[in-house]
Amino acid sequence: MRIFDPHIHMTSRTTDDYEAMYAAGVRAVVEPAFWLGQPRTSPASFLDYFDSLLGWEPFRAAQYGIAHHCTLALNPKEANDPRCTPVLDELPRYLVKDNVVAVGEIGYDSMTPAEDAALAAQLQLAADHGLPALVHTPHRDKLAGLRRTLDVVRESALPLDRVLVDHLNETTVKEAKDSGCWLGFSVYPDTKMDEERMVAILRDHGPERVLVNSAADWGRSDPLKTRKVADLMLAEGFTEDDVDRVLWRNPVAFYGLSGRLDLDVSAPDATHEGNSILRGQPRDEPRPAGDPATEA
Ligand SMILES: [Zn+2]
Repeated sequence: MRIFDPHIHMTSRTTDDYEAMYAAGVRAVVEPAFWLGQPRTSPASFLDYFDSLLGWEPFRAAQYGIAHHCTLALNPKEANDPRCTPVLDELPRYLVKDNVVAVGEIGYDSMTPAEDAALAAQLQLAADHGLPALVHTPHRDKLAGLRRTLDVVRESALPLDRVLVDHLNETTVKEAKDSGCWLGFSVYPDTKMDEERMVAILRDHGPERVLVNSAADWGRSDPLKTRKVADLMLAEGFTEDDVDRVLWRNPVAFYGLSGRLDLDVSAPDATHEGNSILRGQPRDEPRPAGDPATEA
């Protein structure tokens, strides 16, 4: 079984997670830029984070046999903070980079005028750069949030078939599907969707344009939820081809719209800018400059 997790925040996860994900069949991930859990105080903080999503994290993933791409954006929550919004002017020079496969996650958090402006501006950036967009829907008042999101996309230069609308559930799946967008579902340990509800939605609405993700981050979450959905699909009578479609071919098709998806990690580099993920090497072996083990 091959699995592509189309939304996971690996920066917040350990190497044990990478090992467990590989063992479960995960061979590719997309990491959307998001909120750190505490406010950023300047655009420079975004730029260091973007650089790590483009450099260190794909290097780290490749050591475990997993292809890593990212989506970059000003996230919905920080679109409300005037200390952060100037990062919108920096985004164009990042969106041209090879490993960026979409603009995201963008969308609404509290549905404020500042969020309206950031969403519209970033949909335009996606259209300008030939990229699709990953659009988060709010966790409160979901149907109203979805409708307002779809309205803004319809007014933008980006067609709905280049938009992945994420964090859908039973109340939003039908309207989202009717709009022609791609359908994202985040499966969590105890909030939002679980495996059983996900499989029921697949039974009712079919696997077309459906992507399932763990959205695992620094909170309570499970990077193996994609595999657990696949296993339950098989137990409930879906075919291996259905599983491959939802857990591999659909995310490949969506992020492939960028023209930048490269799933070959057969020969990872030993170091990234002189740093490795190794620790505690024998004293007589030279250590790469800048390795924290050297400094210790
Ligand atoms: Zn996320």
